[in-house]
Amino acid sequence: MSPTDPNAAPVIAVRGLHKSFGDNEVLKGIDFEVRRGEVVALIGPSGSGKTTVLRSLNSLSVPDGGTVTFASGLEIDFSTKVSKRDLLALRDCSAMVFQHNNLFPHKTVLENVIEGPVQVQKVPVAVAKADAERLLDRVGLLEKRDDYPFELSGGQQQRVGIVRALALKPDLLLFDEPTSALDPELVGDVLAVIKELADEGWTMVIVTHELAFARQVATQVVFMDGGVVVERGAPAQILVAPTQERTKQFLHRIL
Ligand code: ADP
Repeated sequence: MSPTDPNAAPVIAVRGLHKSFGDNEVLKGIDFEVRRGEVVALIGPSGSGKTTVLRSLNSLSVPDGGTVTFASGLEIDFSTKVSKRDLLALRDCSAMVFQHNNLFPHKTVLENVIEGPVQVQKVPVAVAKADAERLLDRVGLLEKRDDYPFELSGGQQQRVGIVRALALKPDLLLFDEPTSALDPELVGDVLAVIKELADEGWTMVIVTHELAFARQVATQVVFMDGGVVVERGAPAQILVAPTQERTKQFLHRIL
């Protein structure tokens, strides 16, 4: 079965997701699904609700309505009161890489990477360390294992952020504009790591303004505007031949 087989069960299915902040209805019924091995690029103008979708998948934001269903069988209906246990279970399904890497400044690179596995997943320290070293080696940062985040470049910090997410072995990796806070010359290294992960078959949702990257790496592009999914489909369809006027205008502005 190819990693993006349309008949594969979705790793995650999102149905009718709603979220308001006070009077501001930010998500107005979001639907999409992500199949195993898919890379979904979530694109759209600033303020369209992309980050709120991503945060909802990781329990950092709690929607007011809609359902999220994972292949593991976990289904959460946000129109009813969601238990803390379910929110924690939802959080365990994915790992987030933030725009600013959010590393603990007083912990070394290695300590940052093993924190989640050891503290949350109760992985033995020796096992977590061996795993962290293997992952750091993969992104060329093993020799930085005992450095503190401030001793690294922004691109290196972001690669540690990615390793920290991988160390949790999630079903789904979530990236929130992973390169937008980086100097232009550092962007390529981070995108290269994400491309490698895609090639390895990791399932990912990436909020990004890097449309050339989305074209190259994504299997599905979801275009959002004003809290709705305007259209979604293969990159060649959405980024090259969109059918909706709003998508055309957005691409015209950004390209
Ligand atoms: P995008 O990622 O597409 O830029 P966001 O999901 O960050 O969009 O934001 C969508 C809207 O939700 C914006 O109007 C933003 O101001 C609002 N918003 C996001 N998070 C909060 C919050 N915690 N409290 C209040 N408003 C928020």
